[in-house]
Amino acid sequence: MIKEYLNAKYGGRATTLLACEAKVFGIPYPPTPGWLLKYGSDEISSNQSIELRLVLQKSNKPSATKGLQVLQDAWLVLQNTPDVNSKVFLASKAWKRLRYKALKLHGNKCQCCGASPEIGAVLNVDHILPRRLFPNHALQLENLQVLCADCNEGKGNWDMTSFKEQVV
Ligand SMILES: [Zn+2]
Repeated sequence: MIKEYLNAKYGGRATTLLACEAKVFGIPYPPTPGWLLKYGSDEISSNQSIELRLVLQKSNKPSATKGLQVLQDAWLVLQNTPDVNSKVFLASKAWKRLRYKALKLHGNKCQCCGASPEIGAVLNVDHILPRRLFPNHALQLENLQVLCADCNEGKGNWDMTSFKEQVV
C-alpha cells in the first residue's frame, strides 16, 4: 500500500512525497489536499515497485535513499518468509508444462553463460521476477529464463536481471 510505504519512509504519518514517487503512483504533483486519503490505500503493483526502485536510484534526494531502504527492508522480510507453497508449485502440472515451454523457447542452454547439459551443466528455469515476491507472474512464460545452476545460484532471489536481451 502506498500509505504504508510512505509512512515507513517518513517514520510516521506521511505528509508529502517526491515528484518521482508521485509519477510512479499516478498521483498529481504537487499533491492536492486529501491526496493521501484518495491514493494512500492503493496497492503498489510489481511493475510500480520496479519503476520506483529505478527512479529512487536516480534521485539524489535524501528521502530517496530512505525510500530505497524501505523497499529493501520489505524485500528482506519477504525473503525470510518461508515459501510454504514452493513444493506444491514446483510439482504442479501447470509449472512443469510452462517450464518445458521455456526450455523449448530458449534452447537447452544457460542464457547467461551458454553452458549446456552436454558439458555437464544442470539447467534451471528461473523466474526473472521472483515467484515469492510476484506470485501473479509465476506462470507467465515471459517471466522465465533458462539458467545453469551456477548462474542461478549466483544470481539469487533478490536479483531480477533478465538475460533475455543478451540472447542472439
Ligand atoms: Zn550459466
